[in-house]
Amino acid sequence: MNGLNALVSMGAMGLAFGLSLGVASKKFAVNSDPRADAILAVLPAANCGGCGYPGCAGLAAAIAEGKAPVDKCPVGKAAVARQVAKIMGVEASGEMEPKYARVLCLGSHEASPNVAEYAGIHDCRAAMLSGGGVKGCTYGCLGLGSCVSACPFDAMYMGADGLPRVLDEACTGCGKCVAACPRSLIQLRTKSQSVNVVCRSHDRGPDVKKVCSAGCIACGICVKNCPEKAISMDGNVAVIDQSKCTRCGVCMEKCPVKCIRNMPDGVRAECPKADKVEATA
Ligand code: SF4
Ligand code: SF4
Repeated sequence: MNGLNALVSMGAMGLAFGLSLGVASKKFAVNSDPRADAILAVLPAANCGGCGYPGCAGLAAAIAEGKAPVDKCPVGKAAVARQVAKIMGVEASGEMEPKYARVLCLGSHEASPNVAEYAGIHDCRAAMLSGGGVKGCTYGCLGLGSCVSACPFDAMYMGADGLPRVLDEACTGCGKCVAACPRSLIQLRTKSQSVNVVCRSHDRGPDVKKVCSAGCIACGICVKNCPEKAISMDGNVAVIDQSKCTRCGVCMEKCPVKCIRNMPDGVRAECPKADKVEATA
């Protein structure tokens, strides 16, 4: 009789649990948006995080919820944005010109030599933390390749001159290298945003000269000569307003240290001796 009672009470408990789970699953059910699945299917599955979301599924959900724009995936670029826009029933906005990483430093081994030996962890952030690194210029590329290691697409490598190179055909513009550089030397640019001041040093001109032969000396000659008024000084470093620049080349011609470069291509433009260095490396 005791066994029968136990069986009945266990059955009743099972039924009660089953019913409450059924009610809870209905009450707290999350309606999955079929558009998120459709968007996920057209995203490139790179899961690089370049969009700022945790992987492609995170971005797909955010777009479906209207929390991210249809052109948020840097890897898929315009082709994917158009497909996503179609799923969302909206127009793909803007021209969505692809962006590529550009390293804004000309401080090669030759132009800006190290002032000491570095024997720490082979990582730019670690070198920065241990006394600011061994580069003479405290704004320049540390040359330990953290940007190269961070690139999920093998789109970067270190040149023999100690500066990173970008392979545009592989660069997706995901921005991982931008985030990895402790000196904030990498920026994303479209092909048409090709004229850049390739230096980020905020030191005064005479101090720059002591540590780098290729750095911006804050003379302001480019600012005075730009016919479009596209250049201004940010402290001691010139910056170009890409929305005004017409790539006329006047600033490049006038700059006494030649630190303004037309760099439509990631591999060669950062360093004029890049080809020679690579050929003899
Ligand atoms: S080079 Fe930089 S922006 Fe380009 S794919 Fe690699 S990490 Fe991304
Ligand atoms: S660009 Fe930045 S991350 Fe890359 S090697 Fe130079 S300091 Fe390091």
